[in-house]
Amino acid sequence: IFLLQEKIQKDSLRPEAVRYLERLIKLGRRNGLHLPKDTQEKIKSIKKKLSLLCIDFNKNLNEDTTFLPLTREELGGLPEDFLNSLEKAGDDKLKVTLKYPHYFPLLKKCHVPETRRKVEEAFNCRCKQENCAILRELVTLRAQKSSLLGFSTHADYVLEMNMAKSSQVVATFLDELAQKLKPLGEQERAVILELKKAECEKRGLDFDGRINAWDMRYYMNQVEETRYSVDQNLLKEYFPMQVVTKGLLSIYQELLGLTFNLEENATVWHEDVKLYCVRDSASGKVIGKFYLDLYPREGKYGHAACFGLQPGCLRQDGSRQIAIAAMVANFTKPTPDAPSLLQHDEVETYFHEFGHVMHQLCSQAEFAMFSGTHVERDFVEAPSQMLENWVWEKEPLLRMSQHYRTGDTIPQELLDKLIKSRQANTGLFNLRQIVLAKVDQALHTQTSADPAEEYARLCQEILGVPATPGTNMPATFGHLAGGYDAQYYGYLWSEVYSMDMFHTRFKQEGVLNGKVGMDYRSCILRPGGSQDASVMLKLFLGRDPKQDAFLLSKGLQVDSSEPPAC
Ligand SMILES: [Zn+2]
Repeated sequence: IFLLQEKIQKDSLRPEAVRYLERLIKLGRRNGLHLPKDTQEKIKSIKKKLSLLCIDFNKNLNEDTTFLPLTREELGGLPEDFLNSLEKAGDDKLKVTLKYPHYFPLLKKCHVPETRRKVEEAFNCRCKQENCAILRELVTLRAQKSSLLGFSTHADYVLEMNMAKSSQVVATFLDELAQKLKPLGEQERAVILELKKAECEKRGLDFDGRINAWDMRYYMNQVEETRYSVDQNLLKEYFPMQVVTKGLLSIYQELLGLTFNLEENATVWHEDVKLYCVRDSASGKVIGKFYLDLYPREGKYGHAACFGLQPGCLRQDGSRQIAIAAMVANFTKPTPDAPSLLQHDEVETYFHEFGHVMHQLCSQAEFAMFSGTHVERDFVEAPSQMLENWVWEKEPLLRMSQHYRTGDTIPQELLDKLIKSRQANTGLFNLRQIVLAKVDQALHTQTSADPAEEYARLCQEILGVPATPGTNMPATFGHLAGGYDAQYYGYLWSEVYSMDMFHTRFKQEGVLNGKVGMDYRSCILRPGGSQDASVMLKLFLGRDPKQDAFLLSKGLQVDSSEPPAC
C-alpha cells in the first residue's frame, strides 16, 4: 500500500478516497507494518495478551458474587419494595449484592452510615487482588507496545486518532476545567456538610465534620429531593412508553426531515422488537432501517446501546447500501395494572441512544470505514449528548408526555422543577468525572503510577472527598479494560461540542426548528467520519467551536471580557 500511495496521483481520486488511502496507511503504521518482522511479531503477541487481559478484567467484575448479609434495621431508609426484592441470607438477614440495582439505591437511600460505609468499601474492593495484578500488566504492556511503535506514552498513541491529538492537550483541558469547577464543588460540599450535620443531630449520630466517600451519593440525593424536590415517582406517570416513543419519533422526523414507517410482520429476533423503515422526506428515498429492542429479558445485553448492523456505504457497482442499526435498551416493563412508565433519566437515555441511530442512518459516507459513528472517539458522543437537551426543554417534553390514566399534561410547576433540577450537584458530579479521567490519563502516561494511590490523591485534591482506605477503585473501573483506555476524558470533551452546537444554533433558532435540524443533518450527521469533526463543527456553527456554552451548562460564569481569538 505504501507503493500504491506513491504511484497514485492524488488528484485523480475523490477526496474521500484520498482520506481512505491515508487512513489505511496510518492504520498500517499504527500496527507496525513498517517495522522489522521481529518487532511486528512482538507487537502482535502483546496485542493478543492485552485482549485476553481485558476480557478477564471485566469478566471478574461481571462474575463477582460478593454479598453482604444485612438486617432490616441496618437497611433503614430503603423502601419496602426494595427490601422485599432481596433474597434471604438465613437468620433475619437479607442479601445485598454489589450489583448496580442494589448498590446505587442503598448508597442513595440507606440512612445508617455504617451500612453505607461497609457497602461502599466492599464495592470498591471488588476483585481487588486479581484485577490489581491485571491492571498493572495492562498498563505495562500498553506502554511497551506504544514505545515499539514510536510513541512516548500509550495515551499519545491512542490520542493521535482523536480530536485532542496528545496527552498534553487532554491534561490542560482537564486541569483548566477542574480549576473552574473548584469553587462550585466547594459550595456544594458546604451544603452537603450542613445537611449531614442536621441529619446527625436528628438521628442522634456522631458528626465527624467531614464528607466521606459513602456519604456522597446519600447527600447528593438529599440535595435533589430537598432543594429541587422533583418527585420522580409522580413524574414517571406522565411518561408512558407509548407516548414517549410517539413524541420522540415525531420530533426526530420533523427535525431531520425524515419519515419513519413501522414495518408490519417484519422478521425480528423477539416479539418485543419493532422494525422501522426510514425515508428522506423530500426525495422519498429509503436511507435506512432501525430496530427498537427496548425491554429487558433474560440473557439480553444489560445496558443501553446502539449497534450498527450494516454500514451505509457505496457498493462496488456504485449503488448505495442502506444503513441498518438497532437500538437496545432495558426500560421498565409494563405490569398487569400499568403500562411501561419511564423515569425521566430513561427518557434521556432513549433520546441519547436514538441520536446514535440517526447518526448511523443519516451518514452518506462512501466507505464503510467512515460510515455512521466512525468519527473521532472523543467526538462520537457529541451528537447524542446534544440531543439529550431535548428532554430538558418545555416544548419537546410536552410532546412526549401525558398522564397514563388521566391524559393530563405535566403540571407547569413539576415541569419547572424538573428543568431546574438539571443544575443539582453539577460541581461534584463533574469533578468526579475529572478524577476518573485523570486516573485514566495518569495510568497511561506514567506506567509507574500506583492506581489506588493515584486515585486517592486525585479524590482528595480535586473532589475534596477522600477515598476509603484499603479500597482500590481503579481495579473496578471497567472502562480501563473496555476500550476507553486514555479516553475516559472523552465524555467531558465531547460535551463541549454538544453544548456549543445546541446553544449556538438550536437554542437560538428553536429546538424544533426544521431548518437548523437539516443543517445539523447535513453538516454533522451526513459526513460520518469522512471529515474531521473540527471541520464539520465549523461548518455548522459558522465559527470555530468554543467552551462558553459548556461552562454555562455546568453553572459557571463565562468571562466575556477576554479578547476573541483570531
Ligand atoms: Zn452514547
